[in-house]
Amino acid sequence: MFVQSQNSAGQISHQQLRPGHTACQTDISSWADTQNSVKKVLEHLVYLGKATGDIFLNDAVAKKFLEFHRDITEECGAEEKQHSWAVIEKEEEIVMYGPYYPNYSKGIHSEDIIIQQTEELLESEEFSQQWKVYVFTMNSPCLARNTEPCMINLVQKAHAWWTAYGVKTHIGFVRCWGFRGTKETLFRDIDYGHVDCINQTGNHGDYVEAAKNRTNLNPLCENLRFAVKHLLTCADLSFPLMTTVQEQDWNSYFKKMHSIFECKPEGEKKVFAQKLDAAIEAARALLSAKSRSFDKHLEGGKAFPLHSTFAPQVSEALQDEMTLTFQHCWREMVQDKYADFLRGKLTEQFNQCAVQLFIKDIVKFTDRYLHIGRIKFSKEHMAAFEAE
Ligand SMILES: [Zn+2]
Repeated sequence: MFVQSQNSAGQISHQQLRPGHTACQTDISSWADTQNSVKKVLEHLVYLGKATGDIFLNDAVAKKFLEFHRDITEECGAEEKQHSWAVIEKEEEIVMYGPYYPNYSKGIHSEDIIIQQTEELLESEEFSQQWKVYVFTMNSPCLARNTEPCMINLVQKAHAWWTAYGVKTHIGFVRCWGFRGTKETLFRDIDYGHVDCINQTGNHGDYVEAAKNRTNLNPLCENLRFAVKHLLTCADLSFPLMTTVQEQDWNSYFKKMHSIFECKPEGEKKVFAQKLDAAIEAARALLSAKSRSFDKHLEGGKAFPLHSTFAPQVSEALQDEMTLTFQHCWREMVQDKYADFLRGKLTEQFNQCAVQLFIKDIVKFTDRYLHIGRIKFSKEHMAAFEAE
């Protein structure tokens, strides 16, 4: 086995594909229009209710990927971050190259390097039609980018390699990436206000009315509302708070508690401010490491022991105000994190759906030269990786 490790990504130039070059290009051209395909996927997601369908590789190909993956892991260590490697399987030799990592500041994705390396290797030798190309990428190749997305590049390259060298390309990935990246903004505007309105209404008209009655809330389109509604009614929506609230985040939510002491004389204010900072810091212990429902997280904020910290020095009225303000800040934090979590869920479902729809769309045209799908790691396999 020959493992060629080359992590420097500097020399890759992005290759523009010639228009009308391959037959497959017209079949996937609709996917190059990101805005339109995002719309199409959202409609599909709403229609199905969730991402469905099996896009796993067939057993024989999956087995190959798992074997190569074990070799690469033995040699280079396990890696969770996005990376790619590839294999050219010849009759009597296996050429593995990678792992390669993206260099986002230079606009280079790991698949760009794979494509260039594969091309060089195929060009440099007497090829045989028995050869097979295997491309592994942790995240499925991207569907949106400022230049040609990797998914489209790879499908076109697979066709070109088939035409020129008669080799079949296999692409395996672990996570569905889809349209993620800087271009994806579909769910960005969904905040807790939307979620609350959607929860309390049964149809789009009522929702729009409810949203109009709130300040700063532009109603979502019908498909987005439906996607949120469906998520709210169907999925397990417990989420962890502890891992999602960073220290800086935490302080900014409770900053407004300091306004309570505005009326106090300067010297006292300073003492109270220090005490309050300490109390707020101590209250972080209320953040549960466990996944809980939204309502359960809200309840968690009711337990803040402010009284014992301040009791002798501040009036009862002020203590009550502190408790209320704390609970208000806590509620805002939980609502924001809940909306964050829901956006994450929607993004995940949406991109799973995008990758499934793309693969379903192309498979009838690309079957001869391309096999693409998700790699399912068995529990035993994962355990074996960890043990090594
Ligand atoms: Zn990419």
